[in-house]
Amino acid sequence: MDDMAATNTGNSGELDAIIIGAGFSGLYQLHCLRDRLGLKAAVVERGGGVGGTWYWNRYPGARCDSESHSYWYSFSEEIVQEWEWTERYPGHAEICRYLNFVADKLDLKRDINFNTNVTSCEYDDAANRWHVTTQDGTRLTAKYLITAVGCLSTANVPNIPGRDSFAGDWYHTGQWPHEGVDFTGKRVGQIGTGSTGIQAVPVIAAESDHLTVFQRTANYSVPARNAPLTPEFKQYVKDNFAEIRECMHSTPNGHSFRIRDRSAFDVNEAERQDIYEEFWDRGGLEFRASFQDLMFDKKANDTAREFLLGKIRETVKDPETAEKLANIDHPYATKRPPIDSQYFEAYNRDNVALVDVRSDPISEITPTGIRLESGAEHELDIIVFATGFDAMTGSLLGLNITGRDGLPLKQAWEAGPRTYLGLQTAGFPNMFTVTGPGSPSVLCNMPVCIEQHVEWITNCIDHLTSNNIDQIEPTPGAVDAWVSHVNDAADATLMPQAGHSWYLGANVPGKPRVFMPYAGGMHVYRDKCNEIAANGYQGFDLKQQTVEA
Ligand code: NAP
Repeated sequence: MDDMAATNTGNSGELDAIIIGAGFSGLYQLHCLRDRLGLKAAVVERGGGVGGTWYWNRYPGARCDSESHSYWYSFSEEIVQEWEWTERYPGHAEICRYLNFVADKLDLKRDINFNTNVTSCEYDDAANRWHVTTQDGTRLTAKYLITAVGCLSTANVPNIPGRDSFAGDWYHTGQWPHEGVDFTGKRVGQIGTGSTGIQAVPVIAAESDHLTVFQRTANYSVPARNAPLTPEFKQYVKDNFAEIRECMHSTPNGHSFRIRDRSAFDVNEAERQDIYEEFWDRGGLEFRASFQDLMFDKKANDTAREFLLGKIRETVKDPETAEKLANIDHPYATKRPPIDSQYFEAYNRDNVALVDVRSDPISEITPTGIRLESGAEHELDIIVFATGFDAMTGSLLGLNITGRDGLPLKQAWEAGPRTYLGLQTAGFPNMFTVTGPGSPSVLCNMPVCIEQHVEWITNCIDHLTSNNIDQIEPTPGAVDAWVSHVNDAADATLMPQAGHSWYLGANVPGKPRVFMPYAGGMHVYRDKCNEIAANGYQGFDLKQQTVEA
């Protein structure tokens, strides 16, 4: 991968826009501002190459859960026609190759400062400018600040007592070494069974001497059924991309399949089982789309739950292990639903053990392994933390942003993130966030919501420039109304019922419990954003600033 990394181009000084992050969002944002609007824009990126979350998440089994023909940019017909995915779900290395291909094709790397950590972003009221300082003391200045730092990019490494005393090696899946990890002959302990952990287990099991999985919350999973793409399918995608894109743009989750317009109770039990079997065989996130009421009606959700628990019991041979895996405390898909390649099957291997740390929590990490509260000890050579992220807000707050009158973003969001449309925060003029909290973001297939945000921001900046407007910022009233709408949208679904979910910030000790993504559907959100722009940026204050002479 590093062969594809670019060098620091040394962009500095006065710019029109500073973009933080060179993942899907930052790359497209740079292209739009620089090549469509003709602005002077630069990207600051802490990684040594493009890729964003995929630059860091190179853990064993790292693969996207969205299907490849929906997990790419759709803005350029030329790029769609030139690029060819090889598998149903793209692996992290292929996604990085794709983003490098796009960055090279659009000649983006010359305006990206790689290996550059942002230490602070300060709004200068008098000058109406943002100053971004990086770890080497460089200061960039621009009228617009666009944070494109991703929703899942700050690793959550639990501060388990004794962690630093561990004599073996430990790794977080989201900060995986580029040279890889050799598990040969090793006793590995993996903490975490979210989407990441579920992908990693079968691969680590196959490579290591022994794998112990420490499970706090049991999880549902549906087989991904990954496979190489056939030449016919590749051709189908190229020939029908307009139609595929139209589907992605008109569904609540931005995927290339539609949620079926039927209730789980429109059919009898035998028919329902057949439908679930059909979706199970098809594999992937589409299982959730088998009935329209799975996310809204607990009784409907229970039918999916029972089916999926049955599959765990059918697959896992040891009944005690099967019961631990099937002891799931939340409705299906109220946490982000994982998909897998032989996850439950991995527990049938002789070298894999499951430890339930809900009933017997981890008390400490010792030099030789993990000790539980019961006193049970597990000797390990390597610990893998598949423990997720300080999602949606962690990376934004990590930028040390201060707005008008020196207001820290941390303070403005003390009780949880407060945005208008996820795009802007009151008190932080001309700062835009791509897929911020309060936008559909993680509840949507990411490239779809990213493209919508980047295009909205680009059109907005174009509007400001064309109308000689110096500042845009949401009104506090618009923010209040949006925050309350985001809560209502979540409450209309079953999602808040998963108390441990990172959607609520519940996975990070001390983080305010607020449902962060917008659950009203990407298609609804897109229309709202368009309507707001068409109504003269309703809910935003647009100002001409008198800059001090
Ligand atoms: P996650 O969903 O937050 O899962 C973290 C796991 O670690 C959970 O099982 C959690 O248990 C456990 N955990 C955390 N702290 C712990 C502690 N102190 N002791 C014991 N267990 C602990 O994180 P993730 O699996 O990395 O996934 C995050 C998100 O990234 C996904 O939901 C998805 O949106 C995205 N993702 C996407 C893909 C893809 O597209 N292929 C792949 C991976 C991830 P609790 O549940 O009890 O907190």
